Amino acid sequence: MTSRGAFRENSVNGAKYMTAPNIAAVHAFMARPSGADGGGAAPARSLAYLEPVCGALGIAFEDLVFSEQVHGSAVLLVDEQTDAEHSAGQPGGIDALITAARGRALAVFTADCVPILLYDPPSGAVGAVHAGWRGTAADIAGAAAAAMVREFGCAPGDMRAAVGPCISRCCFETDGDVADAMASLFPGGGAERSGVVRRAGDKFRVDLKAANAALLERAGLGRANIAVSDECTRCLSDKYWSHRASPGGHGLQAAIIAPAPPRRHTA
Ligand SMILES: [Zn+2]
Repeated sequence: MTSRGAFRENSVNGAKYMTAPNIAAVHAFMARPSGADGGGAAPARSLAYLEPVCGALGIAFEDLVFSEQVHGSAVLLVDEQTDAEHSAGQPGGIDALITAARGRALAVFTADCVPILLYDPPSGAVGAVHAGWRGTAADIAGAAAAAMVREFGCAPGDMRAAVGPCISRCCFETDGDVADAMASLFPGGGAERSGVVRRAGDKFRVDLKAANAALLERAGLGRANIAVSDECTRCLSDKYWSHRASPGGHGLQAAIIAPAPPRRHTA
């Protein structure tokens, strides 16, 4: 095992995945399939891709509920009755999932977009979020945290968040529309002050990791309880799928998490 920032790299049967230091629930930020190219990769939602890591983590493939990503801000509460089709199946699309149901696990899929995993130690409840720039602009991360507060009685100050590997400011050059969307999230110049947006000539560089960390802080999470991966999917396109590195053909990697036993009586 090696360490990338505070995240740890793990490997099982050639499949790599990262784990965050502050999430005690079973979870993984998976890498792309080893040796896969754009045309020959196993689909992200397939048993072939997910099973090695799920097997190592003790998650049954049939327990996984998948997002139906549309770059929106809808959050689905997953329970024991959520369908067995491995899909949230919501007509409007679902970019974030939350659950406290043992025997369920959550999966979101990304290739440069931001995967965020949430965990509440007292209840054991978890969340999984897919946030591209549009989802970030819609504060999907804050919506998922708020849904955990509402549905499971979580105290935001107890909650942990891990912002996983995604395109970083080094590589996320944008036009003004994205910069404007981030600026509107942080009125009064906060986007610049917090390093979310920097001007680079007539383009902008946007830090989606910093934006989502700031949104989670605004939702009440403590800064010390938010871990941020230092990995950029475009810089590390041998390890991760990156839309910007191979716009014509790429797969998606999964971020998965399962609820943990409650820790109501621990400090
Ligand atoms: Zn980069």
